[in-house]
Amino acid sequence: MTKDTVRLGKVLFAFIGTICVFAASASAVTHYYCKYCGHKAMSVNSLTASSCQRHPNGPGAGRHALYEGGEKATYVCKYCGLKSTSIASLTSSKCQRHPNGPAKGRHEPTL
Ligand SMILES: [Zn+2]
Ligand SMILES: [Zn+2]
Repeated sequence: MTKDTVRLGKVLFAFIGTICVFAASASAVTHYYCKYCGHKAMSVNSLTASSCQRHPNGPGAGRHALYEGGEKATYVCKYCGLKSTSIASLTSSKCQRHPNGPAKGRHEPTL
C-alpha cells in the first residue's frame, strides 16, 4: 500500500464519518403530534392550524392540541395503562376508565 492510498483511505473514512453524523442529525428532526389523534406535523404552528377529528368536544369541534411528551417506542394511556406503538392507534378507541365515565372519551397518552 502506498502513502497515497493510505491518505485516500483516511479522507474517505473522514468523509463517511461526516455523512453518518449528518444522517444522525437529520433523523433527530423533531415532529409534533396531536395528543387526541396522533396527527404528525413539522411545527406546532402547522399542527394547530387544522381541526381534529378526535377532539374531546366532538369530531372537528376543535383543533389539534400539542402532545408535549417526546417521541416514544410505546405510548401508555394515563387512565387505564393501555399500551400502543403510536398515539394514532392509542387514541383510536374509547377508554373504559376515562375521567368523564366509561367510554366517554378516548385513551390519552402519558407525557
Ligand atoms: Zn388531532
Ligand atoms: Zn385508556
